[in-house]
Amino acid sequence: MVIKSQTLEELSAVLAGWGEPAYRAGQVLAWIYAQRVTQWEAMTNLPRTLREKLAAQFKLTSLELARVQGAKDTTRKFLWRLADGSFVESVLIPANPALYGEASDRHTLCVSTQVGCAYGCRFCASGLEGWKRNLGTEEIVDQLLAVERHAAAESRSANAATGEPPPEKVVSNLVIMGMGEPLANYDNLLKALRIINAPWGGGIGARKITISTSGLVPQIRKLADDPLQFRLAISLHGATNATREKIMPVNRKYPIEQLVEACEYYQRQKGRMITFEYILISGVNDALTETAPLAALAKRLHAKINLIPYNLVEGLPWQRPTEAQCEAFLAALEKQRVPCTLRREKGHDIDAACGQLRLRTKRELAARSR
Ligand code: SAH
Ligand code: SF4
Repeated sequence: MVIKSQTLEELSAVLAGWGEPAYRAGQVLAWIYAQRVTQWEAMTNLPRTLREKLAAQFKLTSLELARVQGAKDTTRKFLWRLADGSFVESVLIPANPALYGEASDRHTLCVSTQVGCAYGCRFCASGLEGWKRNLGTEEIVDQLLAVERHAAAESRSANAATGEPPPEKVVSNLVIMGMGEPLANYDNLLKALRIINAPWGGGIGARKITISTSGLVPQIRKLADDPLQFRLAISLHGATNATREKIMPVNRKYPIEQLVEACEYYQRQKGRMITFEYILISGVNDALTETAPLAALAKRLHAKINLIPYNLVEGLPWQRPTEAQCEAFLAALEKQRVPCTLRREKGHDIDAACGQLRLRTKRELAARSR
């Protein structure tokens, strides 16, 4: 068994079976999630015999940091090497990039859910080499823990002179928008999110967690019935089947009508929590004629639209439209009175679209071994 995939209830049941007092499970999880220790020996308020028994029964593994890109207080990318040698990424994005030199305290962490992706969207680096495997619950949970641990170690060394303690937490929001299709790894993801949401675990509110999907209709309906109030982002990228089909093969299985009905169901169950992601790709989906069907869908679902200029991916032919074209697309939507934002920041020079750091590292490793 793996400790970072245990809920409080599950661990309590195991420890009760060992004849341990009821408070023990909480103590163990506090070491893992509040103190973020990586060794059983560090859990000094547990009897040695119990630590040994736990170590024999549960794996306490941590992600290994292979590479980190970007400076403190800017968007940073973490590449993790998993136990089987696979790589996945997490991206830490400050809420207010430190334009004037002050540190940003709120951050959004973008986590991965699979190694590779089976859905093969034509523009995406994550799907380029297909799907390898689902991440385990603990591998999703540990992206948060490992980033927090890294940030704490960094601020401890930065504050070494003053002795000021590191902030308790840097991550306030989570987006499930890294590598992989989250809803294709439904059970492991949902369990990870329960742990990340729990007061004894990551302590991140469900409303601060956004799950992004390319549009898996049955799972959207299932998620709608889940009691936790996660936010949902739909990677739309095309407002008609003709446009969407060109770039997202998943649209053949779940065309827009079915997707929109599932979104309506989600919305009925949970309130207004849907965002449409729309990457702008030059000559593919950025014509102003696309804005009318897009605005109609957004109005029907009371959804907000996030426009994102395409990030170039090495080896793929797609281009980002000019700034003027992006602004014109935004203006056309605003004229139709739908809430809409355009991502303008330049944090994309570090391969900010997920999947790209992994791809580059894999290619470099392959070149070296040749
Ligand atoms: N599989 C899920 C979540 C991971 S992808 C999904 O597709 O929603 C997260 C977001 O990044 C998606 O909206 C995806 O379409 C977008 N994306 C992928 N490649 C991109 C690129 N090169 N530039 C900009 N956005 C990209
Ligand atoms: Fe997979 Fe999402 Fe990339 Fe599509 S955009 S290939 S679903 S990770």
